[in-house]
Amino acid sequence: MAKRVTVAIDGPAAAGKSTVAKKVAAILNYTYVDTGAMYRAFTWAVLQRGLDPKDEKASCSIIPDVTMDLLEDGRVFCNDTDVTRAIREPLVSSNVSYIASYKDIRLALVELQRKLAESKSVVMDGRDIGTYVLPDADVKIFQIASVETRAKRRYDENVLKGIPTSMDDVIEDVKRRDYIDSHRAFAPLKPAADSIELDTSDLNIEQVVDAILNIIHEKTGVEIPCH
Ligand code: C5P
Repeated sequence: MAKRVTVAIDGPAAAGKSTVAKKVAAILNYTYVDTGAMYRAFTWAVLQRGLDPKDEKASCSIIPDVTMDLLEDGRVFCNDTDVTRAIREPLVSSNVSYIASYKDIRLALVELQRKLAESKSVVMDGRDIGTYVLPDADVKIFQIASVETRAKRRYDENVLKGIPTSMDDVIEDVKRRDYIDSHRAFAPLKPAADSIELDTSDLNIEQVVDAILNIIHEKTGVEIPCH
């Protein structure tokens, strides 16, 4: 049987983690887990109920009522509603970091994330995967890029998806989320001591994918299939 391998990819907002994590997982035939999508889905649920995401008590009160499914094809369901597109809307993006700073919500979602990684090979991306969710991950990557590069990538992504955005709003959103994510008390965004930093500012997607596959091969001995 093939050896079980866990890969953690962390880093600031819009560093291109999910795009490359998805590709790496597909090449290796591993399961991809987008933990950001879970915090986004929870934020969607809070907003849908007309609650204020800045209100910790109200937001946490719905924990027992929120169910989540991440499908292999990338679709995300929250309480049986397909929220794949809705969770990328600017209103969710601008509120998700408040939701992600609440310890009780994090504990509930981390439990789910660990279950998804149980007994199978995964590529999981987020902010605290290498430091908190999977501290024993075989490979830990901290993916960074300049704010300008990240904002441009997110802007282009939104345009492609038909989500109305302005460049200034994207820059503001990325900066604000990075600040809140790295300053929260519980499981903040930071590189694990044993992570490898990968600056992707001057790399295209294929180059980042190849760099990560090389690191996985070096760290675990896993053979990389032709792709
Ligand atoms: O990865 P993405 O940008 O979609 O994540 C959305 C937000 O979810 C982040 O800005 C962060 O606040 C939160 N998040 C987190 N921990 C994770 C993944 C995402 O706090 N593991």
